[in-house]
Amino acid sequence: MEQVIKDRLEAIGDTSAIDRLRQTAGGDINQAFYVESKNRQYFIKGNQDIPSHFFKAEARGLDIIRDTQAIAVPEVLYYDEPSGAEKGLIIMEWINGKVTETTIERLGRNLAFMHSNHNNRHGFEEDTFIGTLPQPNGFFDNWITYYRDQRLLPQFETAAAKGRMPVIRRKQMESLLNSIDSWFNGEVPASLLHGDLWGGNWLAGPDGEPYLIDPSVFYGDRAFELAFTELFGGFPNDFYHAYQEISPLPYYYQDIKPLYQLYYLLVHLNIFGEAYGSSVDRILNRYAKLN
Ligand code: ADP
Repeated sequence: MEQVIKDRLEAIGDTSAIDRLRQTAGGDINQAFYVESKNRQYFIKGNQDIPSHFFKAEARGLDIIRDTQAIAVPEVLYYDEPSGAEKGLIIMEWINGKVTETTIERLGRNLAFMHSNHNNRHGFEEDTFIGTLPQPNGFFDNWITYYRDQRLLPQFETAAAKGRMPVIRRKQMESLLNSIDSWFNGEVPASLLHGDLWGGNWLAGPDGEPYLIDPSVFYGDRAFELAFTELFGGFPNDFYHAYQEISPLPYYYQDIKPLYQLYYLLVHLNIFGEAYGSSVDRILNRYAKLN
């Protein structure tokens, strides 16, 4: 791996010696490394078992977020695809800092500014990934259609194919997909979303500046993003206060939150298994009527 990394750093113009290279903890999917050359510090992820445009999608998402100038993201210096026995790599700026008293509120405020970047349609220009699962996209005029057909339906089909849709759950999912319109009241703006915003996908940088990492961007209901931040314990209160000072939560947020969390729970059911089944069922019991 060291030689591959050295070659790639040379390709982006850093021919200085590598002083340090160590594997870092944390990546669910990829092997991650801290690399220090005489010139600078890098964060590098490598993986062989990923679809070809995996790191391209990550780099594109980070570019789009950066372009909003609302919130910091690491600079991406290089990416490629796995080829034969060689791992694909993404090389980015190493982010290193400590959470300060204002980090969490800056995270909330900057996210609200990022969400104020709108598109005229929902979805995204290309397919992305959620974990390693494919996330089909395309652009849609209607949010509910996008959420039903590109979000819930593919995860439902994957779960069924993996044998994780016992009869009642399957019937409830089918019923929900058929009646989901009734839970919404009109259109919502298509906001730029990080798309995978759990507690492990932001970092504190210099001066406690919050950085977003590892996005799966698309345009959609900002309530969907906030619902995911609340799924596994929630972000600290300062985050929500600061967010709401910029953009109050939509009036329907509490009613719809579990319906949005359902998507991520289905993803977890598909990646990690039946441990997430009871959480899926609890939401289906609330939103899916069986005759
Ligand atoms: P994966 O795609 O495998 O889930 P992540 O992109 O989430 O990997 O990164 C794994 C961990 O590495 C993160 O939780 C974070 O702690 C750390 N990390 C990610 N990006 C950087 C970076 N640019 N600089 C420093 N550490 C990082």
